[in-house]
Amino acid sequence: MEAEALFRRQCAACLKEDGTADGQRLIKLVLETYRQANRNLAEQSRLLEIVLNHLPLGLCIFDSDQRLVVSNIRFQQLFGLEVDDTRAGTSIGSLIAKIDGLEKAGARAVARESRSDGGRIRRREWEMNDGRIIQSVVTVLPDGSNISIHADITEDRKAAERIAFLAHHDPLTGLPNRIRFREQLDTALAARKPDDQIALIHLNLDRFKSVNNTLGVSAGDKILRQVADRLRALAGSSNILARLGSDEFAILQCAREQPWNVMALADQIRRELSEPFFRGDKAVELSVSMGIAICPKDGAETELLLKHAGVALSHAKSGGRRGERFFTSEMEAQLESRRALEADLRKAVHNEEFELHYQPLYDMAERRICGFEALLRWNHPTRGRIAPLEFIPLAEEVGLIVDIGRWVLKRACMDAITWPTDIKVAVNVSAIQFISSDLEEDVCAALAISELSPGRLEIEITESVLMENRDEALPILHALRQRGVHISMDDFGTGYSSLSYLSSFPFDKIKIDKSFVNDIVDNKEAFAIMRAIILLGDALGMRVTVEGVETAQQHDLLAQEACDEIQGYHISSPRPALDVPKLLAGSQPHGKAQAV
Ligand code: C2E
Ligand code: CA
Ligand code: CA
Repeated sequence: MEAEALFRRQCAACLKEDGTADGQRLIKLVLETYRQANRNLAEQSRLLEIVLNHLPLGLCIFDSDQRLVVSNIRFQQLFGLEVDDTRAGTSIGSLIAKIDGLEKAGARAVARESRSDGGRIRRREWEMNDGRIIQSVVTVLPDGSNISIHADITEDRKAAERIAFLAHHDPLTGLPNRIRFREQLDTALAARKPDDQIALIHLNLDRFKSVNNTLGVSAGDKILRQVADRLRALAGSSNILARLGSDEFAILQCAREQPWNVMALADQIRRELSEPFFRGDKAVELSVSMGIAICPKDGAETELLLKHAGVALSHAKSGGRRGERFFTSEMEAQLESRRALEADLRKAVHNEEFELHYQPLYDMAERRICGFEALLRWNHPTRGRIAPLEFIPLAEEVGLIVDIGRWVLKRACMDAITWPTDIKVAVNVSAIQFISSDLEEDVCAALAISELSPGRLEIEITESVLMENRDEALPILHALRQRGVHISMDDFGTGYSSLSYLSSFPFDKIKIDKSFVNDIVDNKEAFAIMRAIILLGDALGMRVTVEGVETAQQHDLLAQEACDEIQGYHISSPRPALDVPKLLAGSQPHGKAQAV
């Protein structure tokens, strides 16, 4: 119709005034229109070719007999085809036969069909022999012909797979993460037969933070990878292993005859992880705590089983670490009361419910009290006075020891300034205070506010300070000593390597633990050991204090040795600050020690 209207317009334009047509003009007009149309067609074909061959996607069109009408170069490249392979008229079957790859196994099942206005859309995927993945989107038109576009999605697919992997795995060790572990636990519990048992071990590396603090995070990461490798080897393919958090792992053991099987596994884990880890030529020793819950006894749902293994782990941790605990129902009640104690402890810091008691240090040569050790007491509003061993480990665990320790330092110095100038005060400092606070600053602040001379302050540390945080602790100890503060090694002989720590720092004093004094009167060996330690301290030029002296006989035996000081109930139990003047008055120089 358009052509007819055009011809009518051309005829009208050729009419002369007398109403006849100008034939020559008409021919000219019609020819001009033809030429123009030809030029447009050539231009369009050229444009189409440019578009086709610069398209970053492969494109091909098949007619309703499934024979190729047109395709572009990218299509050939994607499927590794030659120009000859893609001549117009080639059947779809022979084209597929020449492709250097296969339609992805099960891809037809995956091939999704959807409708658009123009026809049906199908997606297909090809796995090429060189590993590339090509995705085809085919639009099938109502007459059976189709147009398809093809893209290389290898990189996109890899990225998507990586994202999916990372969402469910821990990037450091490659182990399943907490999310994945929950899913695995869900699946295992759902698939469990009535007679099956499933044991869940929740593992935590003891004091791993101090490894990170002393060796650095990247060394810590390397060690964690080694831990994961050892656990992987132990877990094998029959158990499920995951990393739940920084230094936390979990193992799921689906086996009957529990608890025996899981006990054997836990035993292997403990032994395997206690072998030293190597960081260059430096050996790092670790220990592990484990909490174990068994389905169905301790719970048959994911949440409950995880929670109970966690409860058992907390118990393993608070029970001195390095071991495993099976969940028991009493544990929950105990954990509850611990939580209540923690809440009370937080309030106690704020409400200043603490008090210091003082226990005399008795100078054997001068036969008089030469100082006092400050010992913390908690006056709980309802439970009465609580001994430090009941709350200090908890305060250390939750970090409250930093605030409490600061208060102790200040209070002890403020009390000591009211005493005669030759009386010292000894303050206990926890390992945590060396890493979680500026101990040097806290000590200086306490000395400054009380105006106590630094030489009257003794800081007591146990070997755990040097064992766990040697690199942080040593400079602080040296700095304090530089300022004139004295440093004592407390509870000497109770740790694994007290002797080796003696040479790492020039202590002013060693305090021999009370466990050594118990038998010195009746047991010759015990006395020999005590004597040897006293001589050792003496030889190193350190003052020696014997703790826990309870009887006159013990005192008399020690009086014959080179023991500089004693401390214990024989002299006095720890007393409130108010009693200090009375104690001092009772301890006359050159007189007999008086028990209070
Ligand atoms: P420690 O430093 O070894 O303190 C000596 C402990 O032995 C005190 O227990 C004391 O009451 C007790 N004791 C004293 N003489 C005798 C005796 O003749 N026989 C026996 N069997 N025991 C005796 P306490 O006051 O219960 O303190 C226990 C531990 O709590 C202390 O052991 C110390 O490690 C810690 N501690 C106390 N106060 C503080 C503090 O302010 N900060 C820190 N970080 N720890 C503290
Ligand atoms: Ca002490
Ligand atoms: Ca002690």
